Amino acid sequence: MRDAIVIGGGLSGLSAAWELRRRGADVIVLELLERPGGVMIGERREGFLIEHGPSEMMLKNASMEAQIQALGLGEELQRPSANAQRRYIVRDGRPVALPQNPLSGVFNPILSLRGKLGLASEWLRGKGVQDDESVAAFVRRRLGQDFLDYAVGPLCSGIYAGDPEQLSMRHAFPVLWNLEKQYGGMIRGAIGKMRERRAAGTPAYIKQLVSFRGGMRSLPDAIAASLGEVVICKARVKGVSQDAGGWTLDYEREGRSYCERARKLVIAVPAYELAHLPLPAAIQDTLSPLASLPYSPVATVFTGFRREDIAHALDGFGVLVPRKESRGLIGTLFLSSLFEGRAPEGCVALLSFVGGMYSPQYARLDALALCSLVREELGRLLGARAVPLVEQAHHWPKAIPNFPVGYQAMLDSLDLAEQRWPGLSIVGNYRGGPAAGDSMMAAINAAARLLARD
Ligand SMILES: Cc1cc2nc3c(=O)[nH]c(=O)nc-3n(C[C@H](O)[C@H](O)[C@H](O)COP(=O)(O)OP(=O)(O)OC[C@H]3O[C@@H](n4cnc5c(N)ncnc54)[C@H](O)[C@@H]3O)c2cc1C
Repeated sequence: MRDAIVIGGGLSGLSAAWELRRRGADVIVLELLERPGGVMIGERREGFLIEHGPSEMMLKNASMEAQIQALGLGEELQRPSANAQRRYIVRDGRPVALPQNPLSGVFNPILSLRGKLGLASEWLRGKGVQDDESVAAFVRRRLGQDFLDYAVGPLCSGIYAGDPEQLSMRHAFPVLWNLEKQYGGMIRGAIGKMRERRAAGTPAYIKQLVSFRGGMRSLPDAIAASLGEVVICKARVKGVSQDAGGWTLDYEREGRSYCERARKLVIAVPAYELAHLPLPAAIQDTLSPLASLPYSPVATVFTGFRREDIAHALDGFGVLVPRKESRGLIGTLFLSSLFEGRAPEGCVALLSFVGGMYSPQYARLDALALCSLVREELGRLLGARAVPLVEQAHHWPKAIPNFPVGYQAMLDSLDLAEQRWPGLSIVGNYRGGPAAGDSMMAAINAAARLLARD
């Protein structure tokens, strides 16, 4: 009898297992694929670090940073180079840098005059009464259509490859949502928070965008290495049953059958996989609302160029393309401007995202068509004028969970399952935020709560 079994060896499952182990539990992780890490993939080719999934993460608080240090990854941490401060948004067919301070915002052409007036008068707008509403409805109400088209729309693309008409403001951007609920508006809220921090004398943690020398896969690789042989890959779960003593799992691996028993069970697979797990019918029924959680379809194209073959300075994080300006491209990250070691000397590495919620048909193009679309767009927007040295496409049919209006009902079903089966914990990037750091911390906290429940 073990203390816990974790199904799913992505960042969420590994983080939960790591915390369980840290608290003394005897735990195993069952991962379906050949290697753990889930969407965190990366390989070196011809001097380029090719990453199609996550390429950075935001350290949002001191405990997140402490987890990275505790994993022994402190020496591996990379911070963005000074050259990567700018963020570009396409307006009228060309990338325009976002203003870096309020004064330069006055003259910046990303927002029209109407958009700027909308932003300036946000603090005058009253509190909304809705319990939940779409991001688009919230932004139109508080900031206007231009701000939606050229600021928040691209932000939704950058984080969720999502459509602001579908995303829930309450769940997709909970911090901004709560500023309105608590303080009556976002500007009022930002000022209010600043005053509270000053009064309490607590300095704000300065968020840091980071990656690792070996790329983002270093993070799950480090956790898996510290867990060792209890991470069992190529394991297909064939049956899950529950009784007063705990959980029994039958699984197959390379043609052989195995059975494991444990007091606790952590499920760490994507939401769309829940319905395919052989869980007891009562648990499946409770979790059934999750089956309709939408995921954005995305394709990524990694391209490596000689520096002189791109006219744009690439002096930033990347460029986002608003829906109105898009021909299938959501945006492009300037990977080699962000972190050292992404491209050989004299070359640059770019990662382009295609498709998303409002143009899913592009995410389904074959590799050849994707590469040609991206070449054309990089030519139009960044002045790329040669055949790339390296070019590789990857399909993500279900990339990022998109929290819809009414998502609370799905979260409630997860809470209900954990109340009915106290030895069960369900973790993943659809519960606690889609970003890597949020998924990691949510899984660590869930694991601690699971051990405390009896
Ligand atoms: C293209 C892309 C780009 C991203 N970019 C960023 C970024 O730049 N920054 C950032 O912070 N976040 C980014 N994210 C999000 C972030 O990386 C993820 O939210 C996080 O890594 C999710 O981890 P997870 O463990 O919840 O899910 P996953 O990584 O999906 O892991 C789930 C695991 O469960 C396994 N599994 C599935 N079914 C079974 C089964 N039946 N039995 C056993 N195992 C099973 C899968 O094989 C997988 O290993 C990106 C995501 C994608 C897809």
